[in-house]
Amino acid sequence: MAYSKYVFKIATEKLNDRRTSALNMADFRKNEVYSAIPRLKEIDSELASVGASTGKAVLSGGDTKALLTSLKEKSAELQQEYEQLLISNGYSADYLEPQYACEKCNDTGYIEADNKTLVCDCYKKLMSESACEELNKISPLSLSTFDSFNLDYYSDSPDEKGNIPYKRMTKIYSHCLNYAKTFSVNSKGLLLIGGTGLGKTHLSLAIANEVINCGYSVVYVSAPDILSRLEKEHFSYDYDKEQILLQSLLDCDLLILDDLGTEFSTQFTNSAIYNLFNTRVNMGKPIIINTNLDVNELANLYTKRFTSRLLNSCEQLDFIGKDIRAII
Ligand SMILES: [Zn+2]
Repeated sequence: MAYSKYVFKIATEKLNDRRTSALNMADFRKNEVYSAIPRLKEIDSELASVGASTGKAVLSGGDTKALLTSLKEKSAELQQEYEQLLISNGYSADYLEPQYACEKCNDTGYIEADNKTLVCDCYKKLMSESACEELNKISPLSLSTFDSFNLDYYSDSPDEKGNIPYKRMTKIYSHCLNYAKTFSVNSKGLLLIGGTGLGKTHLSLAIANEVINCGYSVVYVSAPDILSRLEKEHFSYDYDKEQILLQSLLDCDLLILDDLGTEFSTQFTNSAIYNLFNTRVNMGKPIIINTNLDVNELANLYTKRFTSRLLNSCEQLDFIGKDIRAII
């Protein structure tokens, strides 16, 4: 898995913070319990001296079997007394053990399996989350929520095609809210179609916020921005950076591509879009696409094949009404 040094550094810092805080909390609880049950402190120092005597006996050589057995028994007795004291004073037996966020790796990020050292899933998750945070830095994620979406901007009079914007948008709003609340890594994609200022960006950001709160990784990018970044890195032959960027777009649970069709279209950008879209669809991962183009315009700009695959793998939501920004 390719991640930038920066993402790796951020994820490692978060992991170290988790471990340090688990150890600090355990120390804090130890001090608290020592003052409540002073005998525990004595037992700890007795256990340490039994440990030192055991070490000495092993190093001295000779027939130490009897001595080692009695030290082992002494240590077991002390540990039992320790546990009983904790329980009889209302603590759990493992109250003084550090409570790590990940029980598999004790927040070290690595696990041993089949004589191999492997990266733990929790560490992989932290790297993926950090990569998303890095990409989302420039998007106005926190500003757009379902609560701040105002349906009153949509007219309740029929438009020239006889559709009532308020009615249509209320339906779309509920659909998006339900999509976000029931999101899973196997959800279908969404294709949000309609002119500028009809709320596509707002609703897709609201979905992003909700889905992030449920613990999924989401990347929100504008098509022109991400395509020009990919193009720049591709033509400066910085394949590492290009791969890292692509990997983040493929790894996240949900990718939101805003403003598709407003990019400066080149052979490179078109093929980058096909690859990104096809790879995610083949992986069964959802994508939300916002575009001002209608289906025919999409087919003209890209291809009929791409557009028909887009329509097959995404639910199409047609936004209608007047540009909200002109009304406000
Ligand atoms: Zn772990």
